[in-house]
Amino acid sequence: MPKQPIVEITRVLTFAASHRLYNPDWENERNDEVFGKCNNFYGHGHDYDVRVTLRGPADPETGMVINLNIVDRITREEIVEPCDHKHLNHDVQWLRGINPTTENLAVAFWDRLLPHFGEALYKVRVQENPRNWCTYRGEKG
Ligand SMILES: [Zn+2]
Repeated sequence: MPKQPIVEITRVLTFAASHRLYNPDWENERNDEVFGKCNNFYGHGHDYDVRVTLRGPADPETGMVINLNIVDRITREEIVEPCDHKHLNHDVQWLRGINPTTENLAVAFWDRLLPHFGEALYKVRVQENPRNWCTYRGEKG
């Protein structure tokens, strides 16, 4: 069989949530030093942008790597619905004990999506604002 072109396809979803960045093992002074305004006691909000990228050959019959409706539904169920209009430090069971930086959120979201997409999952990108985002591809080191 001839080799199939490998393509990447991305679905973007958004949600709004609040969080506080801090390390509970540190004095507040050190948290202020490291996290600045993001250590605000009652949290602060972001409009999150989550991009889920799947990679693989397009099916010759459908022309798709995967139906984007499926990517949308699973990402909604696993990430958007549990996180939207929530405080990420308190309201989301599977984020408890995790400092909700974009880095940690990208990894947590990856872990939620991996059982659904397996090897096709290529990249999860989490953006807090137009100036910073984090990308995770499942690598460990
Ligand atoms: Zn923040």
